[in-house]
Amino acid sequence: MSFSENSRKNFEPIKCSICRGNINDMSTVYQTSFSLSIVCRECCEKFSKEDIELISNIFLSHGGYFGEHEDSMASIEDIVRKIIKKIENGPKKIELNELNVKLLHEALLHGFTPKRYIKGLQNYLEE
Ligand SMILES: [Zn+2]
Repeated sequence: MSFSENSRKNFEPIKCSICRGNINDMSTVYQTSFSLSIVCRECCEKFSKEDIELISNIFLSHGGYFGEHEDSMASIEDIVRKIIKKIENGPKKIELNELNVKLLHEALLHGFTPKRYIKGLQNYLEE
C-alpha cells in the first residue's frame, strides 16, 4: 500500500501506543505481536518485550498512555487508595484479576514502569 503526498496529509502522524509520542522513523519501532500496536524506540529501550505486550494491551482496552498523569506526584500508596476507593464507591463487585489490571493501569498512567510499580507495591504491603 502506498500513499501519495496528497493523501498522506489526511492521516494523523503515527503515535507510540505506550507514550503517545510521534513516530517519525519507522525503521526503529517495534510492533507488538498480539495487538499490532506500534511502539517507539525510547519505550523499546525502557521496557522489556513482555512489558511492552502487557502495557500496550492495557492501554488498548483501558485508554490513556504512559505518564499521562506523571506530574501529579502520586505514590503507589496513593494509587492503591484511589482505586480501592473507586471500587468501594462503585456499583459492582470486581474480581481480583480486574483489580490487578486496574492498579497497574493507574500506575502506568502515573509513569510507573511495571518493575517500579511491583517494587512499590511490595514495599507498601510490607509496611
Ligand atoms: Zn513510546
